[in-house]
Amino acid sequence: MRFHMKVKTRFAPSPTGNLHLGSVRTALYSWLFARHTKGEFLLRIEDSDHDRSTHEATKEIIDSMKWLKLNWDKGPYYQTKRFDRYNKIINQMLEQGTAYKCYCSRERLENLREIKIAHRKKPRYDGLCRHSNEHHANDEPYVVRFLNPQKGYVIFEDKIRGTIKFSNEELDDFIIRRTDGSPTYNFCVVIDDWDMEITHIIRGEDHINNTPRQINMLKALGAPIPEYAHVSMILDNNGKKISKRDGAIGVMQYRDKGYLPEALLNYLVRMGWSHGDQEIFSIDEMKELFTLDDLSKSRSIFNIEKLKWLNQYYIKSMPSKYVATHLALHIHKAGYKINHGPKLIDIVELLAGRCKTLKEMAAQARVFYEDHNEFHAKAVQKYLRPIVTSQLELVRSKIEKINDWSPENIRYAIQQTAEELKMKIGKVGMPLRVAVTGSEISPSIDITVYYIGKNRSLNRIDTALDFIHACKAQPTDAKYQ
Ligand code: GLU
Repeated sequence: MRFHMKVKTRFAPSPTGNLHLGSVRTALYSWLFARHTKGEFLLRIEDSDHDRSTHEATKEIIDSMKWLKLNWDKGPYYQTKRFDRYNKIINQMLEQGTAYKCYCSRERLENLREIKIAHRKKPRYDGLCRHSNEHHANDEPYVVRFLNPQKGYVIFEDKIRGTIKFSNEELDDFIIRRTDGSPTYNFCVVIDDWDMEITHIIRGEDHINNTPRQINMLKALGAPIPEYAHVSMILDNNGKKISKRDGAIGVMQYRDKGYLPEALLNYLVRMGWSHGDQEIFSIDEMKELFTLDDLSKSRSIFNIEKLKWLNQYYIKSMPSKYVATHLALHIHKAGYKINHGPKLIDIVELLAGRCKTLKEMAAQARVFYEDHNEFHAKAVQKYLRPIVTSQLELVRSKIEKINDWSPENIRYAIQQTAEELKMKIGKVGMPLRVAVTGSEISPSIDITVYYIGKNRSLNRIDTALDFIHACKAQPTDAKYQ
């Protein structure tokens, strides 16, 4: 119907809490569809509900979108800045008779509701004020209701769910302006989508019930009806919808846990959309391949292991320089002083294959920036026994003599030590590893020593030797039992 038109999509979050993954997925799909069709994507902050909207939540939405690089072409628009426009339309609708004033008291409405429920009917407004000619004083409070058609059906083709049909008999004359003069959510959305010329509304399935109301209103305004795609929910392991209430965390917390935006987006795009069996999609590929036709209506279960797997994949496969820009946050949070240690890009190259998150990477990078203040008990038991003194002393002296500081020369020093003492290389390498890192786990020892640096490595070997001597002086120490 509107294929000749430029596609315009929007992401329209309510700033009432964390931006959770379900919302981000609808943002991603709206963004991808606009990018795929060379259309436009806009951001609208639905802050019409004063009591529940917060500045922090708005900031988090914007920060999250920026971090994910879901750039918008227009906006952000704020509903709170558009109240004049909403009121203008409401007044026009009152004049045209597509909306009416309702003076029914709260008591009457509550009564009505109870009666309907008692008769197992939907608790809808009975339309008393629809055609009332009763005179009311100017200061008598009223709400404005939309005059919903009473007969017929609202039918629309959902891009994901197929034909959806609602009977008008089931729909209320819903309130579009409250007694305090503020327009209601369902009304603002309609006016915004109309004014902003949205062609495709991609949103969560929890909005399906709003759609027939919004369509009726668009029709009453003589506005075009956009296409709709209602995306299925994301469920947690217990089969419950993930949402803020269920404790699902916000996007920025995924950043803080050490995920890359590419991993999160790849994870989300595959939750509900597919292209054959392909699992890995670069952002460019997503833009090229994404269409609404391949969206699935089945609900998806959130699987953190898969997200971690993707994160590790992106940590390993994105350019180290890029990964380093994201690692910086975690290194900064850890409080390391990085001036005297390796560059972050070197850390990424060294540790990419060993970490599922950047937070883990930052933790593993500690040995390069900070001295350890204790040795892991197990490593001590196995490798820092008095018997290793000779190899530690010898390898120390060889390391000290290295002029051209390189992993090759460090490896050579270790090999020479092992040869001279007629022992396997591991008998030198492992005590050395525990001495310089405090634990028995690290990347290959030559590179580890290389990045720790000469002076630091020598100092740490000295500390380890002192530790061994101190333990020897107290033979009853539990460590040697
Ligand atoms: N503001 C709504 C929400 O955050 C979305 C409305 C819409 O997409 O139409 O759930």
